[in-house]
Amino acid sequence: MSDETRLNNHKDAVFREKIKSDRASLYPEGLMLEFSSICNLRCELCPAGSKEADDHRGVMSDILFNDIVREIKPFLYSGILINGQGEPLTDPNFISKINTLKENDITVKTLFTNGTLLKRFAEEIVESGIILTIAIGIEGATQETYEKYRRGGRLCDVIEGIRFINEKKKEKNTKIPRIQINTVVFRSNEDEIEHIREMAMLLDANFSLKSSWFLSAIMGEIKVDSKTLEWLPKDKNMWAYPVKETENGDIVIDINHPLRYRGCHWQYRNTFIRYNGEIYTCDCDQTHSFLRMGQLSYPDTGIREIWNNDAYREHRRKINTDITSHPFCRVCPRFFGRVRFSKSKQT
Ligand code: SF4
Ligand code: SF4
Repeated sequence: MSDETRLNNHKDAVFREKIKSDRASLYPEGLMLEFSSICNLRCELCPAGSKEADDHRGVMSDILFNDIVREIKPFLYSGILINGQGEPLTDPNFISKINTLKENDITVKTLFTNGTLLKRFAEEIVESGIILTIAIGIEGATQETYEKYRRGGRLCDVIEGIRFINEKKKEKNTKIPRIQINTVVFRSNEDEIEHIREMAMLLDANFSLKSSWFLSAIMGEIKVDSKTLEWLPKDKNMWAYPVKETENGDIVIDINHPLRYRGCHWQYRNTFIRYNGEIYTCDCDQTHSFLRMGQLSYPDTGIREIWNNDAYREHRRKINTDITSHPFCRVCPRFFGRVRFSKSKQT
């Protein structure tokens, strides 16, 4: 197997997406891996941050991780995203997993983290040289604002972690990993956005503003929940979704809005593997009930057996026919939000 195998798998993925086939290429060209579904914070509007979620959390075992790497390595064209529904740096074997990826010539495109534990791994992360970007969620330029959303977090820990990474990069004379600060706009921080942007500049980080997500949407609901309504910014251009009011006064997501993106490249390009080996089309469904495609069980059931199984093919057919008829994807937080946000940038 070679780079040519990876390239051919990629080309096949592009082609099958283009013709809207229900059968994808042999393997996904990219993976999102959930190293850990445990989180050290309790963010508002995040189910992973609620105490009720504690029973369903864990860390990906090294055995499972090694099996995944062994299987996907020859086909992985676009590298790995480390994300999921927890904080990856709570995985005690985080560094050994990174080292395994390095040994197997696999790149991490983005490590998504809350950044509070970054300092303890900074040296080894930079040393590994395989993580291209670290994306860090920061919703405030002051501790007071930051902790309104990121409950239990200390902004100074995040800043210290970023500074440590920058120092190590300097010592090693390298530009990677790049630091990306992602800020979701809420009512709590909308007056502080420019300060967060300045902070990002001072930390030599890229800065990206994200529209406010809806708790109800990541739970698969159209009706906007009261908690989300409390958190939404005053600037409606920064809401991830267009909404409308029903006859009985409910606020609901307008799933037929003309700006709605009607496709999904995830179903042809990437798959999401949870810490326990469950495979989902993506990481958006926080209920774990709408997008589950199968369960890894090596040596009998690997990614290949699931990637084109009946569930996946049915999913692709449904999305390609009418995305608004899918019980979860109709409120897809990934594509709905992105379209909405790009509109707000133009106006
Ligand atoms: S840090 Fe991320 S996973 Fe943890 S509670 Fe906050 S949003 Fe959820
Ligand atoms: S929720 Fe969005 S990204 Fe996930 S499978 Fe559905 S359309 Fe694709």
